[in-house]
Amino acid sequence: MSPARPWFVVLDGVDGCGKSTQARRLAAALSAERGRPALHVREPGSTPLGERIRELLLSRELEIAAPSEALLFAAARRALLDQRVAPALAAGQDVVCERFHASTFAYQSVGGGLEPLRVLELLREWAGSPAPDLTVILDLEVSEAALRRGPAGDRIEDRGLDFQRAVARGYRRYAELDPRSRLVDAAGSEDLVQARVRSCLEQCAAEEARRG
Ligand code: ADP
Ligand code: MG
Repeated sequence: MSPARPWFVVLDGVDGCGKSTQARRLAAALSAERGRPALHVREPGSTPLGERIRELLLSRELEIAAPSEALLFAAARRALLDQRVAPALAAGQDVVCERFHASTFAYQSVGGGLEPLRVLELLREWAGSPAPDLTVILDLEVSEAALRRGPAGDRIEDRGLDFQRAVARGYRRYAELDPRSRLVDAAGSEDLVQARVRSCLEQCAAEEARRG
């Protein structure tokens, strides 16, 4: 990996695909290799405002339509970028973030029926910078992810397997639209998936070095 500058890496994918597991592993590996601690954050959350918005979004007591969901996610993301991500990158820290634009695209537009390109426009306009260097989408059969995850634990997980399948299609579509994103096979052991994520990062760093 290019040691010259800090990286902003997103791990995304359906519920239970292994984002938290791989984000922890990646942040630990980068911290050890770079000799400076990586910042590990989750979306929505990791700021006081973002954690409050997360509680609202996941609460089973509320009905929240897709447009309001998209705006709440964008608001949490803006706060995360300003309060955590930008300062960390400026201080030379790598950033590993669970979920980002690909989630909003997959859940609120492809899964929730909003016009996908309008959602991307909103996110780019209001939460476009700093932009991730790489978005790794952990690609796993939704029934396998549901087995890993166990019973639904919140308002969004309650939507069931058909919704999750639409979300998985949304992620694949996102990967075609964002040139800085890659699908990574998330089947197999944690070690195996970690090695795939790692090699994806190295490939991107090598491509960047070639581009100069
Ligand atoms: P997410 O954050 O995407 O919802 P997690 O990282 O929390 O997913 O993983 C969901 C569950 O699956 C956890 O219990 C975790 O220990 C387990 N898990 C994660 N990666 C793997 C893997 N490669 N193989 C089997 N189980 C896994
Ligand atoms: Mg998680």
